[in-house]
Amino acid sequence: MAGSSRPRRAQAVLSVVSSTEVSPHLVRIVAGGPGFEQYNDNDFTDKYVKILFADPAHGLTPPYDLEVLREQSPEQLPTRRTYTVRESDRDAQTLTIDFVVHGDEGVAGPWARAAQPGDLMVLTGAGGGYTPEPDASWHLLIGDLTAVPAISAALEALPDDAVGHVFIETENAEDLAGLREVAGVPVTHVAPYPGVDRIGDALVEAVRALEWRDGIPQAFVHGERETIKVLRRHLVDEREIPRERLSISAYWARGRVEDDFQAEKREAIGQIG
Ligand SMILES: Cc1cc2nc3c(=O)[nH]c(=O)nc-3n(C[C@H](O)[C@H](O)[C@H](O)COP(=O)(O)OP(=O)(O)OC[C@H]3O[C@@H](n4cnc5c(N)ncnc54)[C@H](O)[C@@H]3O)c2cc1C
Repeated sequence: MAGSSRPRRAQAVLSVVSSTEVSPHLVRIVAGGPGFEQYNDNDFTDKYVKILFADPAHGLTPPYDLEVLREQSPEQLPTRRTYTVRESDRDAQTLTIDFVVHGDEGVAGPWARAAQPGDLMVLTGAGGGYTPEPDASWHLLIGDLTAVPAISAALEALPDDAVGHVFIETENAEDLAGLREVAGVPVTHVAPYPGVDRIGDALVEAVRALEWRDGIPQAFVHGERETIKVLRRHLVDEREIPRERLSISAYWARGRVEDDFQAEKREAIGQIG
């Protein structure tokens, strides 16, 4: 049948179970219910879902027929945002997602700040691409607050005798309170320099100052786009980490809503290298 060859992505329609302020800029949402059956789990520590936020003014009932909406009323299409699955619990049928609340702008951040038990959370996925390799000579994990959920999950997956370094730039050291402590993998909290135009500068400096270990690390590097571009140049050109040892991408871009930021990945400005 014409137009029906592309499989539709299953939408998991979950209900918010709880909402907890983990730190001043991080809200943890646990959501679950029978809709969990439509969620496709995987073993990547950076697994992520696409959450669909419909404008309540349109009165849509999930799961949404995105194809029909796209053809007949594109202005009603839900806004799509990407989030890491901090934890999936098959027995409890719940997903845990940590949302950065970054002010009044945007859709997902303000939604998370206001979320109440019973609110619907509709999502597709999960995707993913990185898991720490147990036999890597060492691990390098670098990110900002948006990458804390994925770095958290990676630390939990590391063997007890793993070695490496973690660098995270966030305003509050308490953002890192829940991270698993692995003796050989110290976590450096990097305080940002004041001013939005200096986001990431302190992180880059901290990474540059790292005394390099022997062997090739497996690296996971995610955060704001311009910072990631600089880090990529440093790690690939100066530190000579081979591409296949590097999981690196932008999770967001300053001054860009996610739709524009994702679209720009096809243009020069959106490419990190
Ligand atoms: C694979 C992947 C996994 C991700 N995992 C997480 C996660 O677990 N938790 C998480 O919070 N984010 C995560 N992100 C980032 C998240 O998708 C973006 O931050 C997204 O733009 C937030 O949507 P929004 O509707 O709140 O803001 P948008 O409508 O997209 O943007 C509105 C404005 O807010 C700014 N903005 C967006 N995000 C931030 C931020 N974090 N800090 C400061 N300003 C911001 C934008 O530049 C823009 O000016 C992930 C992204 C990817 C690609």
